Amino acid sequence: LFVCFEGGEGAGKSTQSRLLRAWLEERGHQVLLTYEPGDTPVGQEIRRIVLSPETGALSDRTEVLLYAADKAEHVDTVVAPALARGEVVITDRYVDSTLAYQGAGRTLPVAEVEQVARWATGDLRPHLTVVLDLEPQAGLGRFDERDRIEGESLEFHQRVRAAFLAMAQADPAHYVVLDARASIEEIAAAVRARVEPLLTP
Ligand code: C5P
Repeated sequence: LFVCFEGGEGAGKSTQSRLLRAWLEERGHQVLLTYEPGDTPVGQEIRRIVLSPETGALSDRTEVLLYAADKAEHVDTVVAPALARGEVVITDRYVDSTLAYQGAGRTLPVAEVEQVARWATGDLRPHLTVVLDLEPQAGLGRFDERDRIEGESLEFHQRVRAAFLAMAQADPAHYVVLDARASIEEIAAAVRARVEPLLTP
């Protein structure tokens, strides 16, 4: 089973992915919790390049390709092997983040960005993507590390949010949208309710 958490800054993805992991482990599942960008040795280098303020502005296409390289390494060396071992894989961000940030956010042609990202991931798709939805002002306010994102305008983050919602609306069988303003426990319960029927004993 492959589950993905998506959403804007400060929506609670890492908190909820950890809570889901704990619940699944209590029920006896082997779980791999991972994230993008950066959860491989090569990915760490890429994350440093794409997110460190010292890099300065990257060409949009360079950014797409670096995120794609991170995904290729992540799928080939982490995600796909864990799925092959029968583990539940939970990832904090995946292809949809690229479609939302590099596509909608940077206003690149989303269909082209999607082709690159699908190629990079061998078109491996999550069984379920949980979108934690929050208006950007609220999410940015929750964030401690403002320096990583201060380059992006509010409009950028509004486009990102709208893109996640549009992807979820277009494919309700594979997405659930949860209001990130709800309590941590309420959100965790809603996630569990959606994941439980997907589990094989
Ligand atoms: O999820 P996390 O906080 O680790 O993401 C780090 C940053 O990477 C976020 O601020 C997000 O704006 C950015 N990001 C991005 N494009 C992606 C994935 C993440 O701009 N495809």
